[in-house]
Amino acid sequence: MQKLYKKLALVQQELKAPKSQFNKFGNYNYRNQEDILEAVKPLLAKNNLTLIISDEIAMFGYNSTGRWYVKATATLIDSESGEQISNTALAREEEIKRGMDGSQITGAASSYARKYALNGLFLIDDTKDSDYTNGIDPTLSSKPTPAVKPTVVATPKVEVEQPKPAVTTGNNVPNPAFKCSKCSKAITTAEKVYSKLQYGQELCRDCQKTSTKIEKKKIETPKTEENEVWDSILQEGEWH
Ligand SMILES: [Zn+2]
Repeated sequence: MQKLYKKLALVQQELKAPKSQFNKFGNYNYRNQEDILEAVKPLLAKNNLTLIISDEIAMFGYNSTGRWYVKATATLIDSESGEQISNTALAREEEIKRGMDGSQITGAASSYARKYALNGLFLIDDTKDSDYTNGIDPTLSSKPTPAVKPTVVATPKVEVEQPKPAVTTGNNVPNPAFKCSKCSKAITTAEKVYSKLQYGQELCRDCQKTSTKIEKKKIETPKTEENEVWDSILQEGEWH
């Protein structure tokens, strides 16, 4: 992992992500995931690194308190050595939020989780922002883990399995790598995550209208070691 660690340290030192967003309620500037991605891209190119961000919907909590979360994983891959390192962050799905439809809620949770996955990977400190109140997100009641320890995965050779598509566009821009499973139209990250959550498959908005929602309450998360760990993290209230 030596090569990647060295490169990551260089990127962390050099990275200056601007706070280009403004919260008019709190009267302060903050940064979003696009700010971080824009700032980090040239540093990735310079160091022959590739960044991949992926979302998945997961239910944490194996009893009746199980909740849906968007889990974002930011993975940094060294194109030269094939080494990679990942950081994961969570944001909770809320069933109902004022003034937002379901896919916006999922998009907001996804953006939030992604940003925190990136913050953890690149050591960006956002604690002064208290930015969970930023923008459209004031009613989310729980927050992604601020500092889950990066999971280090040593890969001796370049992976055979192609990594998930790098999503460096916003959540609401159709991504050619994401296709509706019914009509094959390109869908956005938000649509993908939302439809997976609501319908159990990845659907465009049109196909969502003609599909049946899944009965979420019937899905239970198995009591596994990983889920127990997540549960304890979530219950410790370490969200800031
Ligand atoms: Zn479709």
